[in-house]
Amino acid sequence: MTKQDLEYFKNLLETKRTSIVKDLGTLQSHSMQSTSAESSGDLTYSDHMPDLGSATMEREKAFLFAARDGAYLDQIEAALTRIQNRKFGTCRACKAPIPRARLEAVPTTEVCVPCKEKQNKSV
Ligand SMILES: [Zn+2]
Repeated sequence: MTKQDLEYFKNLLETKRTSIVKDLGTLQSHSMQSTSAESSGDLTYSDHMPDLGSATMEREKAFLFAARDGAYLDQIEAALTRIQNRKFGTCRACKAPIPRARLEAVPTTEVCVPCKEKQNKSV
């Protein structure tokens, strides 16, 4: 992995991180009023959501709820750390270089496809 490659993925990851952090802030301010309804198990709060186009909202909500537990942000942080340590793009399990196409698709990945499949089988 060349210095340019590392720069490229660093920018990619930082852009993703920035947009997640921004979206999380937006979600938090939007969901402030619905928190009590959510925690009491009353899911009708969505009837009172501002009408911003339900398909977009559903998609964004699904994405944000996935991101809200911090898992994806953690993965991005870990990938940025690996870029700093020059370990980015190397499989954590077998130490082989991860193909660039896979990194483009999943820049937060730590393992190559064969190792990922092995992991999935062992679970
Ligand atoms: Zn591997």
